[in-house]
Amino acid sequence: MAEQTFNERTMREEICEIGRRIWHREYVAANDGNISVRLNANEILATPTGVSKGFLTPDMLVVIDRAGNKLRGTMKPSSELKMHRAFYDARPDVRAVCHAHPLTATGFAVAGLSLDRCTLPEVVITLGSVPLAKYGVPGSDELTQDILDNYVQEYDAFLLANHGVVTIGQTVMNAYYKMETVEHFAKISLVARQLGSENVFSPERAQELMEARARYGVQAGGSCRIEYKDKDKNVNYAPDVPRTGFGAAAYAGASDDNANARPSAQSNNAANGSNGKPAEIEIGEEELRRIIGEVARRVAESLQK
Ligand SMILES: [Zn+2]
Repeated sequence: MAEQTFNERTMREEICEIGRRIWHREYVAANDGNISVRLNANEILATPTGVSKGFLTPDMLVVIDRAGNKLRGTMKPSSELKMHRAFYDARPDVRAVCHAHPLTATGFAVAGLSLDRCTLPEVVITLGSVPLAKYGVPGSDELTQDILDNYVQEYDAFLLANHGVVTIGQTVMNAYYKMETVEHFAKISLVARQLGSENVFSPERAQELMEARARYGVQAGGSCRIEYKDKDKNVNYAPDVPRTGFGAAAYAGASDDNANARPSAQSNNAANGSNGKPAEIEIGEEELRRIIGEVARRVAESLQK
């Protein structure tokens, strides 16, 4: 019993610390957001309603059971804890839930855009992608319905349409770090779109990253999007060391004169064979070495400028 008390005290302090971080980083305004951790099979320690997450003290937290009944604490549990309980029920491996409204990621959720493009190694490895769940009234079963039906077994971070972000993890810190990753990813994605192009990994490059998860001890994490349609404006495959297929074709299509220009939609189209499939280009080892040497030379050159 003494050990459990120590554990609970540590968890209370950790939730308060994460509360301060999400408030400082403007992931929440006023009393928004909530954080919880599963203390044991039946007890959930959580933030109360009506308090800024930036000013939490350990004694303000409440303990509820898996059915939502308050067991300990003087304050009122948040109505959004229903969502937390749904995650604990659906994913026995999950021990913590973090919910906030970070500015950029919530902007994507309001714009009806998921964060599912394969553009950053860390994001592909840790999250795969961040699906957008259909809108549901806060505090209702509807809020989590789409996540439970379609995404919860595969993903650890979700955009809630016209609402915010929720992340799940094995510890409070782990769930919070995923919240940071989502917002960071959203900011970078927004900047790339403002600059006019979001270059995505080729399917094989994306696959390579997802297969690397075991090396980093990442257990969950679904796939990011591999296929793109015409309506996905300004999405190109990232310039890459040529292997075969789409990425190689786009790279090989660049002449010396325009090799510094990023591959345009036209060059991607030009790389397609007449049957609509990417043209396969065979590249020998010697040619590959030459290209790598050339890329290294240009990088060194640009650094000297
Ligand atoms: Zn919310």
